[in-house]
Amino acid sequence: MSARPPESPRAYRGRLLTPIAASPDGAAVRFLDDALLVVGGDGRIASVTPFAPGAFRGPVLDLRPAVLLPGFIDAHLHFPQTRVIGSASGPLLDWLERSVFPEEARFRDEGYAALVAGEFTGRLLASGTTTCVVFSSSCARATDRLFHALLSAGLRGIAGLTLMDQSCPEALRVPCDEAIAAARDLVQRWHGGGDGLLEFAITPRFAPTCSRPLMEAAARLARDHDLLVQTHVAENPAEGEATLRAHPWARDYVDVYDRVGLLTGRALLAHGIHLSPREWDRIAEAGSSIIHCPDSNFFLGSGRMRLSDARARAVSVGLGSDVGAGRSFDMRRGMSSAFDNAHCLGDRLSPADLFVMATQGTADAVGLGRAIGSLEAGKEADFIALRLPEHVLGEAATLNHLVFASDATVQRAFVRGSPVYP
Ligand SMILES: [Zn+2]
Repeated sequence: MSARPPESPRAYRGRLLTPIAASPDGAAVRFLDDALLVVGGDGRIASVTPFAPGAFRGPVLDLRPAVLLPGFIDAHLHFPQTRVIGSASGPLLDWLERSVFPEEARFRDEGYAALVAGEFTGRLLASGTTTCVVFSSSCARATDRLFHALLSAGLRGIAGLTLMDQSCPEALRVPCDEAIAAARDLVQRWHGGGDGLLEFAITPRFAPTCSRPLMEAAARLARDHDLLVQTHVAENPAEGEATLRAHPWARDYVDVYDRVGLLTGRALLAHGIHLSPREWDRIAEAGSSIIHCPDSNFFLGSGRMRLSDARARAVSVGLGSDVGAGRSFDMRRGMSSAFDNAHCLGDRLSPADLFVMATQGTADAVGLGRAIGSLEAGKEADFIALRLPEHVLGEAATLNHLVFASDATVQRAFVRGSPVYP
């Protein structure tokens, strides 16, 4: 199913919860117990109002008692790790060697890649995720299958060919010239596809598996086409040591990306746990975003990301599942783990903080904050209907249940106003 805008305005009735720009009383969310969401023929939200009989001329799809929410945005996950979720072979470098690299090598088989791509998009939609920012494998044909699957599911997706030309198994290693040519070809085929729902992202796996010439060529390609960059940084201490062994010319981990031209205002850096104050300062100056992946960090024992370091410097933070080190596609699990992560550091996040981080905050971090992330007039209508138990009533209980309970089911999902789930 492709995400074409509906031909005429449509209206949806339900409870509704959305982030809003901070109001004078400090509220960051808006909750309506009985709302009318009207979507225009262009796939944008025309209005969000309390329900009133006769306010909309036309049929209204009554989704009560479901809650209408912005579709979730998963800002960091790995398509070829769909089937290795829960492989407890960490920490990071051991887990890559034992569980991830052997599985990613299977994606040279295009039939296998197509099969798992269908599972991947199905899992996202069943979890209420309508936008994903995703690593493919290093195989160009597998990446092509991923884009086909995103298109046919009607998802909004930013995806990239994972670049690796050193310190990895032969089956995954792609030399610089070949990898850059394949990336350029995928940009031509897919960037801006699906009426703009699809984007290609420059995707160096991480500094240890990328040569300096590869990263420099990737940075040029990103610049030439104004592409997002996604990679990993400072997830694990042994990874940090491997980075400096591979790139002894750099003063620290962030300096590797900085000197090759990848540390841009469109760079998404996953994890950011073991960063020095200097590195945090450079990320802030460059305008790069950190993608917080707390469930993965717990699973691999990687450490705790300090949100306070990001907030003190106004670094934009998005939330990612990091499937398959993250144990679920469900961003509600991500919010709950972010709460636990903050607790471990003596910080406290409210359910409203977590909801805003997972929606508008993550949209801002990936550069889509004007288009999606909240249910407000003018935004593109990416939204879900979530069914909570009937005893859950009111804003506070809805937020608590959304973030911490796992028994709410996704009933419907829409991207740019078009139904994409079930
Ligand atoms: Zn990752």
